[in-house]
Amino acid sequence: MPSRRRTPRLPAIAPRRPVERGRTDSATLTRPCIIDSDTSFLKPPARQQRTIQRPVRLTGIGYWSSKDVTVEFRPALPDSGISFVRCDLSPVSRIRARVDNRIDTPRRTTLAKHGQAVEMVEHILAALAGLQIDNCEVWVNAVEMPAWDGSSRAAVEALLAAGTVTQEAPRDVLRVEECLRVGNDEAWIQAEPSRVPGLTLRYDLDFGGASPIGRQVLELRVGPQEFCREIASARTFILESEAASLRANGLAQRITYQDLLVFGPDGPIANPLRFANECVRHKILDMIGDLALLEVDLQARIFAYRSGHQLNAELVRQLRGLCTAEVRRKSA
Ligand SMILES: [Zn+2]
Repeated sequence: MPSRRRTPRLPAIAPRRPVERGRTDSATLTRPCIIDSDTSFLKPPARQQRTIQRPVRLTGIGYWSSKDVTVEFRPALPDSGISFVRCDLSPVSRIRARVDNRIDTPRRTTLAKHGQAVEMVEHILAALAGLQIDNCEVWVNAVEMPAWDGSSRAAVEALLAAGTVTQEAPRDVLRVEECLRVGNDEAWIQAEPSRVPGLTLRYDLDFGGASPIGRQVLELRVGPQEFCREIASARTFILESEAASLRANGLAQRITYQDLLVFGPDGPIANPLRFANECVRHKILDMIGDLALLEVDLQARIFAYRSGHQLNAELVRQLRGLCTAEVRRKSA
């Protein structure tokens, strides 16, 4: 029988001062190295896989489509990963959350297989990855995931209410041993070795001094506690001009200033910040969701400068390719 363990309750939200360290490093472009997907010689943070104890359901509205959506998280077997199941289709369509199934769409992460898609999956993936829930089916009755408040908080609260189960199978870990960077001088993301156990993320958000968002830098080690406390409640954000443009194109018709952070010249409109540096925290939330498409834990430091979903996915793609090569080499 699997041992059962509940994850802790989501801690209360407490606005914190921005944490700024260091500067933007120049790239060290070296040949990428890698990997331990064979867990037999892993040091911590190797761990057992986890799923949820029981199904849990919640509803919301899609940002882009403005449609009502119901999502149900269901337990899943070891090594089955995260799958989205479009139950509004007949037969249902199952799409595994892996980078091979990612397609490019503006400002969000979309997965597609056999002509069917699920959109805006990144905040749900971040909730699952942040809580170290590796195997889960996400049943959904629409193409677009609910927006909730623009963060992962609703999904995290639902998953914590469902409880977690430790499973027999070990979780694979990818150990990054040399620097690997994608992007250009304007925006990039790199994976590099880390002496700190587990995954450390650093994001450098730079909208320039004239913007109400400005520059925000945050670095933290990511575990379930840190994710719940520091990241899960950070909401997505948009400039007022971008919001007006989306509305003019018929999108986001049911979305209000309370459903995400809309930045005017003087800051967020009619919606107080949860953290002084909420924007950079949300960029880290997005990174966690995008990195989940790798389907293994990382022993690494990931450093991003103005990176978005597309660059994040490109890094995952390259890391995934090296993982696969390593697995092939070991089994040869
Ligand atoms: Zn986001």
